Amino acid sequence: MRQTTKSELEFKQSNNVFPGGVNSPVRAFGSVGGTPLFIDKAKGSHIYDVDGNDYVDYVLSWGPMILGHAQDKVVKSVMETAQKGTSFGAPSPLETELASWVKKRVPSIETMRMVNSGTEATMSAIRLARGYTKREKFIKFNGCYHGHSDSFLVNAGSGVATFELEDSPGVPKELIKATLSLDFNDLEAVEEAFKRYPEEIAAVIIEPIAGNMGLIPAKPEFLKGIRRLTKEYGALFIFDEVMTGFRCDYDSAQGLYGIDPDLTTLGKVVGGGLPAAVFGGKKKYMDQIAPVGAVYQAGTLSGNPLAMAAGIATLEQLTKEDYEEMNKKVLRLTDGIKEIANQHHIPIQVSARGTMWGFFFNESPVIDFKTSKASDQHFFSHFHKEMLNQGIYLSPSQFETNFMSTAHTNEDIEKTLQAFNETFEALAKKGIVYEGK
Ligand SMILES: *Cc1c(COP(=O)(O)O)cnc(C)c1O
Repeated sequence: MRQTTKSELEFKQSNNVFPGGVNSPVRAFGSVGGTPLFIDKAKGSHIYDVDGNDYVDYVLSWGPMILGHAQDKVVKSVMETAQKGTSFGAPSPLETELASWVKKRVPSIETMRMVNSGTEATMSAIRLARGYTKREKFIKFNGCYHGHSDSFLVNAGSGVATFELEDSPGVPKELIKATLSLDFNDLEAVEEAFKRYPEEIAAVIIEPIAGNMGLIPAKPEFLKGIRRLTKEYGALFIFDEVMTGFRCDYDSAQGLYGIDPDLTTLGKVVGGGLPAAVFGGKKKYMDQIAPVGAVYQAGTLSGNPLAMAAGIATLEQLTKEDYEEMNKKVLRLTDGIKEIANQHHIPIQVSARGTMWGFFFNESPVIDFKTSKASDQHFFSHFHKEMLNQGIYLSPSQFETNFMSTAHTNEDIEKTLQAFNETFEALAKKGIVYEGK
């Protein structure tokens, strides 16, 4: 039997110093119950808790660790960079080097700013869109998560969905009026909003492959339609690729869908496991940012050399073939999961895009936040706990995505499929069955 006594002790202590014992809500395991695992170390596709348990990790720090944990070249580069100083508060060549990787892989980005988190990137992108268009409203979609800045906390995904905090206290009502939150994949709703406010909408921001209400790719016509409408009404189209950037595909989501957005936000993979993020896009918009323009944005640790080094070391190693390989592994895994769930008569909706994958315990196709929320949460929470017992670390919420790395082996995947099988069996024995919402 798996021991978690040390994690439990750590959790008790951390509860004395952090709200809920954690520094980011979903880490608290709120929707699956039990104690979050306190991590000692990780290497490749495996993560080890303080009790010494070994898990195959599909959370991968929520996406960034695309080469697996503590990858040799990334670690070496960070260590060598640290020896030369960890922060200067002045420009360094590493920033330009990472930027050239970003431009190469995401050609819609002509110029950019380095920031420290996805939250900063999206917050700044919206400010820029508002500053450029001199309009205040913007459109987002229910179940999409764009970080935790005020304007985005309306029907948001990720932890906001997990903890059912649809509208966060502390966000001024006046500000929220400027956020129009519409149903994902509903182009008519976007069209209606533009007709209603033809000269008030600064931007449409979207997760082109939503990963914070479970994994739900946008329909291609939906994105094309938004591109057309934003042009027609003079609003900016912002692709929030904090999760999908360098993740879903070699060319990110915009390459996959063939859409040329005005602004893009990146995070997660771009920092290679250290805090770095990017917002960027067409130069004519980016030139509104201070010191060239008047839209203010700044950061003491922005472009931090360690984060730049980790980002560069990550991006320079990734080839198109790596993405194909990872995708093959994802398909093997998700096809296997479907088959096993079918054998156990458990309704499941499985989705996979490139190196991202997810599943819902749900009888009906999941296309938006509403259908995502109709999944069996109770069953999932028991399922998640049993998967941990089987040595598999999955995202602790149905509203989160799982990931694949280049470090995952066929053995890992076999082990994972076997764990699904044994977990479903164990749950059936305990009388825990799918009941729907
Ligand atoms: C993770 C995420 C963010 C927020 O990034 P942080 O670095 O956690 O602030 C924003 N948008 C999307 C799509 C994300 O997945």
